[in-house]
Amino acid sequence: MNVGIRNDSSKIWLFDYDLTLYGEEERFVLNSLDHRISLFVQKVVGCDFETAHKVRTDYLERFGTTLSGLMALHHTNPEDFFDFIHEPEYLIYPKESSEKLSLLQSLEGHRIVFTNGRGDWSRAGMAHMKIDSAIEDVFDLKLMNWEGKPHASAYEKIERWLAAQGLLDKENLVEKSQIVLLEDSLRNLEPAHERGWTTILVNPNIQSPSWVDFHIPHLLNLREKLITSSD
Ligand SMILES: [Mg+2]
Repeated sequence: MNVGIRNDSSKIWLFDYDLTLYGEEERFVLNSLDHRISLFVQKVVGCDFETAHKVRTDYLERFGTTLSGLMALHHTNPEDFFDFIHEPEYLIYPKESSEKLSLLQSLEGHRIVFTNGRGDWSRAGMAHMKIDSAIEDVFDLKLMNWEGKPHASAYEKIERWLAAQGLLDKENLVEKSQIVLLEDSLRNLEPAHERGWTTILVNPNIQSPSWVDFHIPHLLNLREKLITSSD
């Protein structure tokens, strides 16, 4: 594992949203969404709530996400799925964090959210956290044509999108390491590593394999890993 990561203007910081921009200590945020997902599965599959939970675990393993399983096996329209699960009155959002805001603002280069959710969920959460001004854009599941991480196509699509905006020279492989992905999921980090991106595992509960470039328990611990040009 490396000692530190250079904080310079060539970096493209990609943040997963759930359990990365808000962490394990706010898992209740994800739980509120999870509850809605199980209710949706219950409605579509026509089963009880407990069975819906088992169905979800099964889809997650077989298809990567619950939605992919629903789309493959039940022809679910992804917009209907997200309209149902993102009903604000049933959801909890992460709390405001001025520390996160100043950390994000201190990062040079570009800061973008790369999420398997639809953009309205992460945008609403970031507004509650009051960190939205520090994030330039959200590359969401819709922009991935509903096939999210860890599918290779998700990483290809965001690289193409970055290149189209002039942020990444797709022919220049050296630049790939300037893409830094922060993620709580090892499964989603692995394809990023294979593409030559820099990987930061943000998770207090798991051990990191040797290919992970950096491992921090919480987002705010990124501060300790940063090497600024004056160092
Ligand atoms: Mg996550």
